[in-house]
Amino acid sequence: MEPHISLHNFSISVKDRREQNKHNSFVLWFTGLSGAGKSTIANALETEMYKRGIHTYCLDGDNVRNGLNKDLTFKPKDRIENIRRVAEITKLLIDSGIVVLATFISPYKSNRDTIKSIVGKDNYVEIYINTSLEECERRDVKGLYKKARKGEITNMTGVTAPFEPPESPNIEINTETETVSESVKRILEYISPKLQTYNNE
Ligand code: ADP
Repeated sequence: MEPHISLHNFSISVKDRREQNKHNSFVLWFTGLSGAGKSTIANALETEMYKRGIHTYCLDGDNVRNGLNKDLTFKPKDRIENIRRVAEITKLLIDSGIVVLATFISPYKSNRDTIKSIVGKDNYVEIYINTSLEECERRDVKGLYKKARKGEITNMTGVTAPFEPPESPNIEINTETETVSESVKRILEYISPKLQTYNNE
């Protein structure tokens, strides 16, 4: 920390905010290739959580890159900085008492380790949306794969940039065999006990 910065102690803590919300706060970190289904599943999941009165916020790769991180490229160094900033925002949102649904390709294992260490391992749930490159290319939701194959986009994950699959995600979803609603149900079942553990720390 810079020498002239000191942290202020506020009276209301994350514990107070969680108690007021009547649920725990943490991040659901969705990782996977572009077009894998991260945003689709997060969107359907947030809708279900909203219906249940859970306070949520979706942090999306494209949205963040349109604003806060618009100075960053897709080169490895900038990808690392992109994720570091997102992890710091996520940490603040968790401290505010809400459940964050973060949808970022986050291709490097070291990236995801950084996020986990910034937000704290107990606040981090990793969801690997495991869709094959072939299927993502077939969907080509944003037309990016076609452009990458033509050489119009460099550093395209899965084509000209690597994706390191998570070794032990908390939840792994195969969108080629599971429907969106089945995936949402499975994630809800997994997080249900975690949501309840807000007042026994
Ligand atoms: P990402 O956020 O990972 O880049 P998107 O959610 O934007 O991916 O796009 C995924 C695409 O795949 C959407 O067009 C969605 O309708 C489609 N899709 C087909 N089957 C599934 C499934 N079972 N789960 C999630 N998405 C699916």
